[in-house]
Amino acid sequence: MKALLVGEYREGKLLESTYELVSFANAVGAEFEFFLVGSQDQLPQVEAKVHLADVTTAGEYNPALHKQLVLAAAEKAGADTIVFIHSSYGWDLAPRVAMALDAAQISEVIEADAEGYLRPACNAKLRRKVKSVTGKSVITLQAGAFNPVEPNGTPQAEALESAGDGNCEFLGYEQAEAGGVDLGKAEIVVSAGRGVGKPENVEMIQALANALGGEYGASRPVVDAGWAPHDRQVGTTGQVVAPKLYVACGISGAIQHLAGMKKSEFILAINTDKDAPIGEVADVLVVADVKQFAPALTEKLG
Ligand SMILES: Cc1cc2nc3c(=O)[nH]c(=O)nc-3n(C[C@H](O)[C@H](O)[C@H](O)COP(=O)(O)OP(=O)(O)OC[C@H]3O[C@@H](n4cnc5c(N)ncnc54)[C@H](O)[C@@H]3O)c2cc1C
Repeated sequence: MKALLVGEYREGKLLESTYELVSFANAVGAEFEFFLVGSQDQLPQVEAKVHLADVTTAGEYNPALHKQLVLAAAEKAGADTIVFIHSSYGWDLAPRVAMALDAAQISEVIEADAEGYLRPACNAKLRRKVKSVTGKSVITLQAGAFNPVEPNGTPQAEALESAGDGNCEFLGYEQAEAGGVDLGKAEIVVSAGRGVGKPENVEMIQALANALGGEYGASRPVVDAGWAPHDRQVGTTGQVVAPKLYVACGISGAIQHLAGMKKSEFILAINTDKDAPIGEVADVLVVADVKQFAPALTEKLG
């Protein structure tokens, strides 16, 4: 397999997720080259060719133009597999590239080997394993599913000429209205998952967070159900946290949740299921009913 890895650059910086693409290429044993709309001073530090389009002319966001650039780089690289991160950039651009190449697109891949790709289905309750049967394929990777490799190579940049103007012009970013809590700053985060059972029980998690001197967070179903506000959500579509202590209460450990907290220094999980996937990242898994364990711990701390 020859892969073209589509790196990401935002607000003048190469994103760390770019190194997750290398981890994917290693998992499937692919040779790879990079594509980047970015700048010479922000190249991925990898031992590979980087097809570099200048961000000052191509803009950070211009999908029609970037599609042309990706296609040009893929041809130069002789790539049969084009790989994106499943981010706002990747999920917009990947289908355009797949259409142009008449290629299969396999999205939100969480594991891969030479046999095929694993992706979540049915709200992550199932996993599907699939492989492409077209000559070329387009893959998007679930953010956080592949551990980023250490940046320690020397890239060889090759300039890509701009392929026109595209059909929109990137004007800049606008900061979302600040508000709510910045969980990223908390040293201790105690999060409520669906296992807490009902909205009133989120207060029990808040009480434990208070007793520990931390903030409370939540998994997405808890937020979607309206039991906690969105600024408390941890995960790929919420906040990414790396506190000294993360307490996961009734949280199964879906990949999208793990992506938001797996870099925490110490992870304590409370779950009735001893085989819950959260156990794979937890330093300590307490097999217990959170409705009994959390208040008991709060009381001890008080
Ligand atoms: C595109 C996309 C983005 C997503 N983004 C996010 C995100 O940002 N954050 C996020 O969290 N999810 C996200 N998800 C959803 C994610 O896939 C999972 O569905 C979600 O994380 C599951 O939440 P949960 O662990 O609270 O619930 P469940 O998966 O239902 O797990 C509940 C857990 O509680 C345990 N339990 C049950 N009762 C008790 C009890 N009494 N005591 C102790 N344990 C108990 C169960 O054993 C189980 O492990 C996203 C999904 C998609 C498709």
